[in-house]
Amino acid sequence: MNRDGVPIARVAGIRISADWSVLLIGALLAWGVAGGAVPLEVPGTPLWLAWIVGVIAAALLIVSLVAHELGHALLARRRGIAVEGIKLWLFGGVAQMSGDLMTGRTEMLVAAIGPAITFVLAGAFFGSSWLLVQIGAPPLVIVVAEWLAAVNLALLLFNLIPAFPLDGGRILRGFLWTRTKNRMAATVAAARAGRFFAMIVIGLGVLDLFFLSPVGGLWLVLIGWFLASAARGEATGEQARHALEGVLVGDVMSKNPVIVPSWITVELLVEQYVMGHDFTSFPTHSIDGRIDGLVTMRGIKQVPLQQRGNRRAIDIAIPADHVPIARQDEPVTDLLKRIGTASDGRAMVYDGGTLVGIVSPSDIARLFQSGPGRVSARVAA
Ligand SMILES: [Zn+2]
Repeated sequence: MNRDGVPIARVAGIRISADWSVLLIGALLAWGVAGGAVPLEVPGTPLWLAWIVGVIAAALLIVSLVAHELGHALLARRRGIAVEGIKLWLFGGVAQMSGDLMTGRTEMLVAAIGPAITFVLAGAFFGSSWLLVQIGAPPLVIVVAEWLAAVNLALLLFNLIPAFPLDGGRILRGFLWTRTKNRMAATVAAARAGRFFAMIVIGLGVLDLFFLSPVGGLWLVLIGWFLASAARGEATGEQARHALEGVLVGDVMSKNPVIVPSWITVELLVEQYVMGHDFTSFPTHSIDGRIDGLVTMRGIKQVPLQQRGNRRAIDIAIPADHVPIARQDEPVTDLLKRIGTASDGRAMVYDGGTLVGIVSPSDIARLFQSGPGRVSARVAA
């Protein structure tokens, strides 16, 4: 799945993009109207006309989904949360935002605005279908309004189920978080409700698959599977965030790195420095003492044995200006945002002008192995 999707519009500064899978859901919806609602309500409608009505209804439903997501996005932005945009995909829409600044109350409000908009839309479509009947509008127009009202109502009810990551689950998490002041516990509880509900959906889907309709059943299984993995991902992400909370760069870095002359050969580097040290990377210094690069074990392994005698350390080092610089008193979460692939996931830690440590991916991994409890104990100490 393309992460950014295909850009389709920009509303109030919020980028709306769509994944190609939206075409699939659009076609299924149009099919549902053209092959279901239309022949049922207005028998004798020609197939081509039924399909035009179906496509219009599906497009209007997607607009309703966008309105729902825009509600989430705009309110989040008003409450100071960075909003990346809205993405439409197979299971509807999602407002992409960074959760960093959220409080329980903000989460509750931001989650609740979407269903509130869907509620208003369902009401508006019910109202207009009633009005259309009163003024004697063409039956096909009434069918579209009724269908939009019914589907929006169904979406509203589904969305309000208190299971993470549905809006109802987010409202629940925000509520628990506000009450207990513990985001982690609130997330775990809401995610557990989400997994429980997902299993019910999958179970219903399997029953449906065998006894009622294979297509509807498969759809339910897919939705359930998506909900289960989203709930699990949310809980894992929360645990990771929690494990890193309050941890400083100085707590995780490998201290006293072995700094090697950048002009020595790779062969000498391996013999004199790599053997006998646990480090997976070695900063290099130039003749004037300046740190000019970082040699990694990966870089060393890429040099064939027979070339190690005539290639210098600096030739295989990551240039120093490609390696992010960190301070010991900086939160690890801030550093992680800057570490990229250019430096092979590493950063150099300076105190004043002195290199005092290296942060490598294995330093970060160790944090998770030690478990959240041990990390907080270390931070508190
Ligand atoms: Zn929503």
